[in-house]
Amino acid sequence: MTIETEKLIQQIQDVKRRWGSRLTILAHYYCQDDVVALADFSGDSLGLSQKAAASTETEAILFCGVYFMAETADILVNYTEGSNQRNEKEIPVLMPDIGAGCPMADMASEEDAKTCKEQLSEYIDFSDVTPITYINSSAATKAFVANNNGIVCTSANADKIMNWAFERTSKILFLPDQHLGRNTAIKRGVDQNKIVLWDPLQPSLGGNTPQQIQNAQVILWKGCCPIHQRFSVDIVKKVREEHPDAIIWVHPECPQEIVKLCDGAGSTTKLIQVVNDAPAGSTLAIGTEWKLVERLRKQNPDKTFIWLGQYPSVCSNMAKSTLPKIAQVLESLDAGKPTNQVRVDVQTALAARAALKRMLEV
Ligand code: SF4
Repeated sequence: MTIETEKLIQQIQDVKRRWGSRLTILAHYYCQDDVVALADFSGDSLGLSQKAAASTETEAILFCGVYFMAETADILVNYTEGSNQRNEKEIPVLMPDIGAGCPMADMASEEDAKTCKEQLSEYIDFSDVTPITYINSSAATKAFVANNNGIVCTSANADKIMNWAFERTSKILFLPDQHLGRNTAIKRGVDQNKIVLWDPLQPSLGGNTPQQIQNAQVILWKGCCPIHQRFSVDIVKKVREEHPDAIIWVHPECPQEIVKLCDGAGSTTKLIQVVNDAPAGSTLAIGTEWKLVERLRKQNPDKTFIWLGQYPSVCSNMAKSTLPKIAQVLESLDAGKPTNQVRVDVQTALAARAALKRMLEV
């Protein structure tokens, strides 16, 4: 560790000591090790926001992750059930780098979703469509689904949420991750001929014919996680051939061609469980963000890890939460002038909150 790094950690720890339980630092699993080490909690996006919302002593939150995660924290922390306004005592949700976005979330804008609804409504009854958005989406997209009787899902509960939706309507519009949507629908037994892809860049019907739309049970938004798209079928096959006993699991944001070659697909929390449950001496190939897999490898020296991609699949946006940026934002908070605050407007937040709440009640 360099002297510079030691100084930064010291500086951050000093602010943490001064603030005590009034400050909560959250770090997503995909953050760098040095960031995860100084966080109060590490986990997945929803779990972290729920932790922050449950804390009665928190007066400020630093979210080391990407923008939609900080939005979710703001929604859950600063809006109380039954109230139609922002809490009087606002808890600022700050980010080390406010420019840390999620390319997948950015692939589905509220405007494009509204255009999709308008175009679909020309050929089908939109009240027979349940829009589902993956939690990895903007607050505005969550508000869009809420305003159309839709719901949010996570990679851990997508199966359950899809079942809930099919009990209500005969069609689903799934945003923004086509792969999570397709993997979930296929697992549920939806006929692949009844799954269509909606490309928002196409001028009409997302590139589909009216018949395809009328016939479809699941309409998938053409979005993806560039990180989980990087795994290759050839490498998975090679790992299978060379290590027949290897336990191969991937995240459901990976394409279906990959998922069907693996032992299973699951959320980040599930993948961690698979690694921890594997007996000593196991060989594991885990297809998800590289920094997490590397951490798991270091934590499990009695297991062998094989990388599934050609190159490390690092989420550069998660990597934007660095020690110098954390130190700078905490300094601004300590000085009473917090910077990099994420604030969702009242109308969007209340609607998005309803879609999140609906999910938590299923
Ligand atoms: S890993 Fe993928 S889904 Fe997660 S923040 Fe990065 S780009 Fe978005």
